Amino acid sequence: MVYIFILVGPGGVGKSCLTIQFIAQRFVDEYDPTLEDSYRKQTTVDNEECLLDIYDTAGQEDFSAVRDQYMRTGNKCDLQDFREVSTADGEELARKLNCKFLETSAKERINVSEAFHELVKEVKKA
Ligand code: GDP
Ligand code: MG
Repeated sequence: MVYIFILVGPGGVGKSCLTIQFIAQRFVDEYDPTLEDSYRKQTTVDNEECLLDIYDTAGQEDFSAVRDQYMRTGNKCDLQDFREVSTADGEELARKLNCKFLETSAKERINVSEAFHELVKEVKKA
């Protein structure tokens, strides 16, 4: 099965870093903020071979309909000292919006494949 994902969200939140950490298992600190790219990765979720097509977008921050519907994860959970939203508040909001909540770090590789795998599971359920 092929799964197509489009990453949207404000510039600088870490969409590209998260994608590259997932695809290539490395943290790139200086990724061009204007670059749009697509990536493909073969992975196994719930014993099913999946092909993930991931589109990393840039400069579409005003595309609010898509943003409101799909901006479901945050990032940079390694930066605990700069935290402005508590995990509990995040979980609470996710419950209200009936969506998944995961705190990720592209830098420390926390919940990176988990985030993409959870998306596959959401699509499977739909
Ligand atoms: P994008 O505009 O959403 O694609 O954001 P980028 O992936 O280009 O990341 C923007 C900046 O945030 C870069 O300087 C990254 O090094 C930094 N960054 C991205 N993810 C993380 C993370 O998980 N932890 C920390 N500490 N910095 C991150
Ligand atoms: Mg980017």
